[in-house]
Amino acid sequence: MPEMTSFDAKDFRLYVSSVKKWLNILGITEFDVDFKHEQINAAAEVEIDSEAKTAVFRLTKQAEITVKSLHSVDTLALHEVLHLLMGDLTWAASKAKERDEIIISHEHEVINRLIRVIK
Ligand SMILES: [Zn+2]
Repeated sequence: MPEMTSFDAKDFRLYVSSVKKWLNILGITEFDVDFKHEQINAAAEVEIDSEAKTAVFRLTKQAEITVKSLHSVDTLALHEVLHLLMGDLTWAASKAKERDEIIISHEHEVINRLIRVIK
């Protein structure tokens, strides 16, 4: 059974510093980034505007998480930064075809490979 995991203010500060760390390591400097700690339907997410070059990183307050070890705050931060890394690519793909589950599924394959190599 999934259990509820809470992310408090301390987790949010860690999330913000982790996102900044991974952005720096990957050399992603072209986006204006903002951070929000609010309830969403995922543990974390990034909202990307490829044209305006803005990104809003969110960390939820509570999430149902089945495998906690895969969802440390630093890994969540890296996961979302990797979405930003590939955000322009999926945005470009969406211009030809609506951003659909196949594109997101391939994006997650690349993210999971990169996390195994980076961490
Ligand atoms: Zn994802």
